[in-house]
Amino acid sequence: MAQLAGKVAIITGASSGIGRAAARLFAREGARVVLVARRAQALEALSDEIIAAGGEAVCLAGDVREEQTAAAAVALARERFGGLDIAFNNAGMLGDNAPTHLLSADNWRQVLDTNLSGAFLAARQQIPVMLARGGGALLFTSSFVGQTAGFPGMAAYAASKAGLIGLSQVIAAEYGAQGIRANALLPGGTDTEMGRSAAPTAEARSFVEGLHALKRLAEPEEIARAALFMLSDAASFITGEAIRADGGVSITRG
Ligand code: NAP
Repeated sequence: MAQLAGKVAIITGASSGIGRAAARLFAREGARVVLVARRAQALEALSDEIIAAGGEAVCLAGDVREEQTAAAAVALARERFGGLDIAFNNAGMLGDNAPTHLLSADNWRQVLDTNLSGAFLAARQQIPVMLARGGGALLFTSSFVGQTAGFPGMAAYAASKAGLIGLSQVIAAEYGAQGIRANALLPGGTDTEMGRSAAPTAEARSFVEGLHALKRLAEPEEIARAALFMLSDAASFITGEAIRADGGVSITRG
């Protein structure tokens, strides 16, 4: 039996990397998916691919920093698919790499607006529809950066990702009695546009790979499989958790 049969899912950051891999996997597992990101063409190509493979998908080009995007995604889920069960709030950006005293306030705000406030605005719109349905599951893509690693130059990113853990814990506590679960997923280094931009040279990539116990980066599909588990009924008693799928980057010391 497909793990998400009959479920309706919103996936943000679906135009590339982890979000795109999750969209493909969730659709293969029976979910009807609403794909959200700014790059319309990439989303359309993905929804065409999912539909051609026999799945159901619709896309919404928008910026997660705008609450209107979150509202429109939920409206689309209701209109096209009749409700909402699952939200993978995954869109994110890295921001400038600079020591804290040289990080611009503008860049700080941009990263926090995208990674943390964008997720809050999404959840604000998603929760009422899940309550009306009698439950649901939210998953926020956090990171080991901000929980177990203080990488120099990444203050805004780390703060935003740590914030997502707090956000998911509070949502879990507030709505658990009404059947809503909320968790944070903490990937390790993953071979995506973001992962490659964080380690742009062969030397940098090899350094980052070496930080992981598995001595490699994750493929986006590996993180998508962890997201599938967390959002499926297989994780029905897991809520308020920060789940690492990080190849051991948090437990290695050289
Ligand atoms: P990616 O390939 O660069 O994907 C990032 C996604 O976020 C894209 O689909 C992008 O779409 C979307 N996005 C960014 N800003 C947006 C905005 N303002 N509005 C709407 N969508 C926006 O990188 P990824 O690695 O898959 O990243 C996915 C998540 O994993 C992020 O939250 C990231 O922080 C987290 N993560 C990544 C790693 C890693 O090593 N790669 C490790 C830990 C955690 P558009 O550009 O089309 O808007």
